[in-house]
This record gives sequence, structure tokens and C-alpha cells, in this order.
Amino acid sequence: MADPPKAFGGQFSKTPSNDGAREGKGDDTRGSGPMITLHTKIEELTRVGKTVATRLKKLGISKARDLIYYFPFRYEDFSKLVSIAELIPDEHITIPCTVDLIKNRRSFKTRKFVTEAVVSDDTGTLKVIWFNQPYIAKVLTPGEKIFLSGVMDASYQEMQFVNPTYEKQSNDTMNTARIVPIYSLTKSVTQKQLRFLVKQAIHLTDTIPEWLPDQIVKKYNLWPLQKSLAQIHFPDSFEHIAKAVHRLKFDEVLTQQLVAHNSRKHIKSVVARRLKFQEKSVQELVLSLPFTLTRDQKIASWEILKDLEKEEPMNRLLEGDVGSGKTIVAAIAILNAALQKYQSVFMAPTEVLAFQHYDKICNILAPFKLSIALLTHSKIVFNGEKISKKLLCKKISAGDADIIIGTHALITDDVEFKEVALVVIDEQHRFGVGQRKILKEKSLEKKYSPHFLSMTATPIPRSLALILYGDLDLSIIKEMPLGRKKIITKIVLPRERLSSYNFIKERISSGELAFVVCPLIDPSDKLGVKSATQEYAKLQSEIFPNIPIGILHGKLKPSEKEDVMERFKKGEIKILVATSVIEVGIDVPTATVMMIEGAERFGLSQLYQFRGRVGRSHLQSHCFLFSSSATEKTRARFHALINAKDSFDLAQKDLEIRGPGDVFGTDQSGFLDFKLAQITDIEIIQNAKKCAEEIMGLPLAQYPELEKKLQESSQSVHLE
Ligand code: ADP
Ligand code: MG
Repeated sequence: MADPPKAFGGQFSKTPSNDGAREGKGDDTRGSGPMITLHTKIEELTRVGKTVATRLKKLGISKARDLIYYFPFRYEDFSKLVSIAELIPDEHITIPCTVDLIKNRRSFKTRKFVTEAVVSDDTGTLKVIWFNQPYIAKVLTPGEKIFLSGVMDASYQEMQFVNPTYEKQSNDTMNTARIVPIYSLTKSVTQKQLRFLVKQAIHLTDTIPEWLPDQIVKKYNLWPLQKSLAQIHFPDSFEHIAKAVHRLKFDEVLTQQLVAHNSRKHIKSVVARRLKFQEKSVQELVLSLPFTLTRDQKIASWEILKDLEKEEPMNRLLEGDVGSGKTIVAAIAILNAALQKYQSVFMAPTEVLAFQHYDKICNILAPFKLSIALLTHSKIVFNGEKISKKLLCKKISAGDADIIIGTHALITDDVEFKEVALVVIDEQHRFGVGQRKILKEKSLEKKYSPHFLSMTATPIPRSLALILYGDLDLSIIKEMPLGRKKIITKIVLPRERLSSYNFIKERISSGELAFVVCPLIDPSDKLGVKSATQEYAKLQSEIFPNIPIGILHGKLKPSEKEDVMERFKKGEIKILVATSVIEVGIDVPTATVMMIEGAERFGLSQLYQFRGRVGRSHLQSHCFLFSSSATEKTRARFHALINAKDSFDLAQKDLEIRGPGDVFGTDQSGFLDFKLAQITDIEIIQNAKKCAEEIMGLPLAQYPELEKKLQESSQSVHLE
């Protein structure tokens, strides 16, 4: 158990359950607080010390404005007020009551603090218990009028309310007696803490100007921006949430459409190097592969090669489900540029993936004796040897490196290229004009713009992709490599756990590998949620004592991550216990078992991505879903995963399963660069496209806010 966070006021501590609330007595966020603006640094807000500020910055929150744009991802409805006599177990409710008695004692068994209270209203009295939050006995005093929100557990014999959220009574609550926002947070920032901060900033929504002209707001039936920003945090009703979300999604897609218009204009205004099709070498490459290309891979490669021959820069999206074989298509394009002595940049979203691409490209293109560089923050390699960054940068600017593979470090660092003719971006949805410009500016040769190829595993139907990416050409790989077998996906009941361990043993003894994914890195106070470190220790000592097991999570150093991946690929490690870091792109064809612990805690598209880590060869693969929750919703979600044709189909099923509190679904990060808009928001996408076209025809001088926004979005450099 961590120490109480001092920076957040001495009296606060952690709760073992519900939302890990920390709360102080003075919940009034108005009045005495400092005057703030959108640009006020979070350090200057009430109750934010250095520690809290650092934690918030990890969430991308550094100014008051960022709090407003940090949207909740779901809500809990505690707006139903009931009296003690009316109490209904298993329902979300709030009880207005008075504290009669409150005291701490230590549990006999665990020695932990138990806070016991008796509360009452006109209809009766009720016993309340909080575990391990002794400060509550100081915060709440007898005679005080409070709200208690939570779900009463019907299984207790005597009626008692365990670990409810409490708050002083008022008409302006944040945590109780209303629809309560739930934010996606890390362990070190609590819901109550964030709500308190958002509340301090929420009045600033009034200072954010409406950028859309009146007639547009009316025509598309949009809510005003200010109201939407305020209501998405502290909504008055679910209807309001829907309206607010609709407006903010519309803004997202509209902005993206405006950027697309801009990028189309930009592309028309620049020229790229014509890269001739190197027929003989491409043929040589294709023949050297241990497999034959699928028809779709051939078509995609051909479309790309055609584009590269043109003077207009290629701007193409290569879409293909996980495991469909996009990398080889990229390699073919890269080879074409490299053979003509122009540089290619191949950019991956994570270091682990960059390392993997480096190995693969070196491997695939080995016969062509090209110079290949890897540049990430932690590792710099040139033709298989580690060298200094300075030396590599020299080689890159001198044109001695033909292919440069890396992460975003490539555009953020001070690298200078001789002349980049082709940029390939993996698993990232798009590339703004901003990045294009940076890359061009980083080339010593300024006359030409690079060709661009983006690759994504989000299979957006062609019709939708055409609307969304009016500025992109599209290649789609639908067909999976020959001989792939459908992954067998199973929900595993607790009593079947042992037999699935035995199954893993069997697979390993025939030379295959297994993943075990856990929701957390370290054990936490969330009871029953599996953590990678704990599971790793247990598997190694109890279940598979004779099998080498590795662990992979976000806290490891890049070199450690790489080492683990390397040993797993080589089969020195047979089981890899990991957190969600294994999500994208990792390719280990001999891995055939994917075990997912706490599967209910992952979003559907995340589960889909995990499962895509196996089934990457002719071997039969299995995916096991373990879950401690047996709710109907969880089961429905798992069945959606089992039955979905592809991840678009899955997104639609996900939408159907969601309840009213889950407006954004469980996957926040799944789709494009949007925080809110989803792949299934087809109507919004269509309308935003239409609206963007209208906006392009408006006399901007009459709409200064619109003009400002257009300028901003054309400058926008989206760096993850
Ligand atoms: P993704 O599209 O998810 O990036 P990869 O490019 O990583 O997929 O390819 C997945 C695996 O399939 C790799 O091991 C790759 O070598 C292999 N592969 C690619 N194309 C084919 C093919 N036509 N036949 C058989 N295996 C292939
Ligand atoms: Mg890939």
C-alpha cells in the first residue's frame, strides 16, 4: 500500500476499492481558489503539488485547458436519490443522510483499519463500512449531512453499505448524487482527484470561442461548443451527454477533413522524385522470399510502384488486417528507392516495433547490399553495428544510409537527411502536412517532396475510407497468406484453468511459444486483477518450473524489452508474460497460444489485436480468454470477439453491446487520431465531410475564429 499522497493534502489516503478516492473536507472548488485561465499551469491549481503535477503531465495534462479536453470515457449514474427505507441492493443509488456515529477500529484478521459509521434519515438508519481509509473518520463528523453513492451488495446478510463514495451535500456535487464522469487514469491519479481539478477549470469553457459559423451550427444540428465541453464532464442527463459527444466528435472529424483538404492542396503544389520500377531486382526479391505473395499483396505493391513513378507525391494508405503481410509490401517500395540511391524512412510507433522492422528489412533486403540504419532514442545501429548518434547523423546527411528505420525520434531529433524520397509509416493512421514539411525541411535536397505510404491494421470499409481520407489513395490487403488457420478462441472457466496450462505445456514441448497477457504491471489494491509481475512469478515457480519464462512491460528499458523479445523469438524463452505493450505489430510466427488474463478489462479491439499476435503461420493457434467477471455484457463481448469477421465488424458489435453509460465504448485509442469519434460514426463522418466542403467555400475574412482554427490545423503536427 502506498503512502498517502502528501502533495495532495496530508489527510488524504487511498481506498482499497471503488475508485481509489482521496478526498478532503473542503470540497468547495469555487470561492477561495486562484484566478485561472486556459493557460494556467496545473501546478498553480489548488491541491496540485509537484508530485501530482508530474503525474498529470504523464496523462498529457499540463495546463488548465488540457483538463477541459481530458474527456471521461464513461459515466456512472448515481443520480437516483433514495431513502434508507427504499434502499434497493445491486443498483446504483445515492442516499442523502446524516452521519450519526463514526469511528475506526482495526480488523482482527488483517490488522487493517475499518471505518464504521451509522447514518440515518427520516426513514431509518444504516450501517456503513469503509476498509483501509481511516482518514474518513476525521473527514466526516457526526451531524454532517452527506451523500453516499454506490451499489449495495445484496449478498451481505445484514444491510450495510460497503465503501460508498461520500460527499458533503450540495446542489453542485462532483462524485455523488449525479451522473458521475469516469476518466481513464493511471493508478497514481484518482477519479475524485481529477474531478476536483476539472471542476476548477470547467468555467473556462466559457472563454473558448465558438469556431463554427452560426449557420453551420444550425444546419448540422450541433450543440454549442462551450456547452458541449462543460456537459461532457458534468452532464445533467444522458441526453446531454449524447448531444455533447455528438458535437465534439463532429469537431474532430471536421478538423481532420479540413486538414485533408489542406494536405491535398499541398500535394498538388509540390513535386516528388520519379522512382523507376526496378523490375529485375523486385523480381529477385520476391523470388527470394520463403513464400509466394498473395494476390492482394501483389496488387498493392503494383499500385505503390506505379505511384512512385509519378511526379506527384504518393499519398497512399495500405490497409490490411493484422498478419496480412504489409511489411513485405513496404520493403518492395523501399528497395525501389534505395536502388536509385534515394533515402527511405520507415517509421514505427514503438521502439520494439522499430527493432523488429530493422531486423526484418535487413533480412529481406540482405541480397542487395544496402546500408540500413536504426535510429531510436535508446538504440542506434548502422549495418548491424552500434555506432554513436553523431556518426550516424553524419552518415545519414552524407547519404551513406539508404534506409533509415526508427521511431518518431526521426522527426523530432536533429537528424538531417540527404534526400528522403519515400516515407513509410507503420500502424499509424496518418501523417499531417506538418510532418511532411518537417521531413522535407530535414532533407538537404529541398526541391522534392517525399512519397508517403501509411500502413494500418484498422480495416475500414473502402466506402468509409474514401470519405475519411479524401486525400489518400487506398490499397487494401483482404486476403490472408495461404495456409493460415482460423485462431480457435475460447472462454476458459476457472475450473478449466489447469487443463489450459497443460495444453500450453504440450504446445511448448512441440516447439511452439505462448503469450500470457495481464491487465496490470504490478500487483495493485484492485483485488483479483492479475498483474504481469505476480503472474510471472507464479507461473515460473508453481506452474511451469522447468520452462523458461520472460516478462515484458512498459517499465522495462528499451534494451531490456528488446532482449526479452529477441530471446522469445529465438525460443530461449517459451512463455512471454506481458502487459498490453505487446499490442501492436509484434511478429513471432512460432507463437501459437495467447492467454489473456482479466480479459474483461480490455477493450474489444485491444483483445482483437492481442489475438492477432498468434495465428501468423500455418500452425493452428489458440486464444484463451480468462475472466473473473461473468456478467452478461462480458460474455456478449467475448462472443463478439469469437464471431467477428474482422475488426470493423467487431466495432459494430461492440457498439450494440454497450450500455448508456458507455458512450465511447471500451476502446479509446482504437480509431485514427480521434479521441471520441469511432469507426461506426458513419453519419457524423458523412456530415463532417459535407461541412468541410462548405467551409472551404466560405469567405474566411468574415469568420475570424474559423480562420484561426484553419490556420492551427494546417500547422498541426501530430506527434504521439
Ligand atoms: P502485418 O500486416 O500485420 O504487419 P507482417 O508484415 O508482420 O503482417 O506479416 C506477418 C507474417 O506473415 C510475417 O511473418 C511475414 O513474414 C508473413 N508473410 C507475409 N506475407 C506472406 C505470404 N504471402 N505468405 C506467407 N507468409 C507471409
Ligand atoms: Mg505490421
